[in-house]
Amino acid sequence: MAHRSLETVGLRCTGWAALDRDPQDDRVEYSCPHCGAAGSKAARRPRGEYHFSDGFLQDLQGEMSVCRQCRQRLHVTPVVLVHTLDEKRRFEAVFSPEPALVSAR
Ligand SMILES: [Zn+2]
Repeated sequence: MAHRSLETVGLRCTGWAALDRDPQDDRVEYSCPHCGAAGSKAARRPRGEYHFSDGFLQDLQGEMSVCRQCRQRLHVTPVVLVHTLDEKRRFEAVFSPEPALVSAR
């Protein structure tokens, strides 16, 4: 295949972490690995496919999407399900590509 899809981490908020949004609006949020644009897609995979790994409930199979900005295909994996804002902050600290804190020893 000529087009290879890059991978990016997705975030699916639920419960307390999604209080500020419509409960029907179940989305996976990600940033495009090609151009860096923020994107989102409707979550398709059932929650039963999510398993605990590294302290988070994740879907390691992930979902395919297309960036609205650059039109390139991308593979959102893992998709991490977060229930609380605290969990969301912890996720962002763990998965952030540029660590906010660099420990200098
Ligand atoms: Zn893009």
